[in-house]
Amino acid sequence: MSDQPLSKVNMDKIVSLCKRRGFIFQSSEIYGGLGSCWDYGPLGVELKRNIKDAWWQATVQQRDDMVGLDAAILMHPQTWVASGHIEGFSDPLVECKSCHRRFRVDEIEGESCPSCQGELTEPRLFNLMFKTFLGPVEDDAEVIYLRPETAQGIFVNFQNVLATTRKKLPFGIAQIGKAFRNEITTGNFIFRTREFEQMEIEFFVKPGTDEEWFNYWIEERLQWYVKLGIRRENLRLRQHTGEELAHYARSCSDIEYLFPMGWGELEGIANRGDFDLVQHAAYSGKSLVYFDEDSGEHFTPYIIEPSAGVDRSALAFLLDAYDEEPDKEGIRVVLRLHLDLAPVKVAVLPLSRKEELIRVAEEIYADLRKCWIVQYDDAQSIGRRYRRQDEIGTPFCVTIDFQSLENHQVTIRERDTMRQIRLPIAELKSTLTAKLGGEPLEVLPPGGSKWLGFED
Ligand code: ATP
Repeated sequence: MSDQPLSKVNMDKIVSLCKRRGFIFQSSEIYGGLGSCWDYGPLGVELKRNIKDAWWQATVQQRDDMVGLDAAILMHPQTWVASGHIEGFSDPLVECKSCHRRFRVDEIEGESCPSCQGELTEPRLFNLMFKTFLGPVEDDAEVIYLRPETAQGIFVNFQNVLATTRKKLPFGIAQIGKAFRNEITTGNFIFRTREFEQMEIEFFVKPGTDEEWFNYWIEERLQWYVKLGIRRENLRLRQHTGEELAHYARSCSDIEYLFPMGWGELEGIANRGDFDLVQHAAYSGKSLVYFDEDSGEHFTPYIIEPSAGVDRSALAFLLDAYDEEPDKEGIRVVLRLHLDLAPVKVAVLPLSRKEELIRVAEEIYADLRKCWIVQYDDAQSIGRRYRRQDEIGTPFCVTIDFQSLENHQVTIRERDTMRQIRLPIAELKSTLTAKLGGEPLEVLPPGGSKWLGFED
């Protein structure tokens, strides 16, 4: 993580918004919290679901050359021998002899403990995988690991997927799932945690076409973030240098985001060559070779791996969407989340708690909930309620007022511009569908009109 330049958004504001509004809580908070583990609250879980859905749609649903998988978190222990994790997935650490804190060697300056100035031990390797036991006996022979990445579940299922889908090269397998790493340097909120979710693609290609596909996936994945609203200037590509390259990689580029603490990895795209399939074939004794019907050749495919983190993406989307602007009451906080990512799509707001109004509002609320996550709010002034929705990124508010009872019309207010349109209740669902699909607010439905506060 580099220090310069710094982004304009302050992490404390995001952490506090996330806690205050129910996006993200510290894990086991009532017991004082658990280091670098976080719980996603009612809004956070929707945001994460939307990120994962957007990824799944772009990588699996809308492509003919990709299929999905959901492999188990617990895998045969030999997997991690073959993958190199048992031997290589470790950081050299030093421990302070006084306070017993551990630090990564590459992150300390000087010879003494950065925390208490105590004396440090010699560096030793510390494996990042969490160990547990399979079955009732806590015996060395029963040791297994919580997976530190989802990728291996894909490699070991390569032949299963090939045989059952009859896919031909080039094709990919995509997976979303939890991964666990006993990280040493944690912090920066959900940037680096010990339990996190990954969205990984393993794309199998014919050797010789690998660099072309590597470049293709870098561009494809970069555009995914941009399409979902991240400003291009807050993203950059960073190619790994020779000595930085992982043991399995022929080349690797990171998509980095300008986090408040500096540029940091959002996603890594690696050309893994044939390393993984060759290793698993050798350790399992099973053939993981591909037969190319067109050329009559047998070969081990090369793999291009775009590997993204759900949690880091969520943090980047939140940071990039966060905005403050001056208004009559001071500062308006708006989360300008992409329409597809906003946790709540619509808020239904009756102007008062009068019974007749509530009846109409509740009917609308029940109807809209069939399509989207919708909130109902009738507490405090309408201005306050708009602000509450702006702060959590709700794209549209529907307001029901006394006139609605007479002319069966309601208003829709747009989060980003605060402009409003008036329309018949009968047109509400189809209009919201169109607006949530990106149609500009000024395109009016039958019987619709611009409303107060609408400025061209
Ligand atoms: P870093 O160098 O930041 O530790 P990495 O290079 O080890 O990351 P990869 O193994 O390439 O990460 O994992 C792919 C993606 O998974 C990362 O780009 C990141 O989005 C996510 N990821 C990895 N480790 C963590 C973690 N501890 N917490 C949250 N997300 C993570």
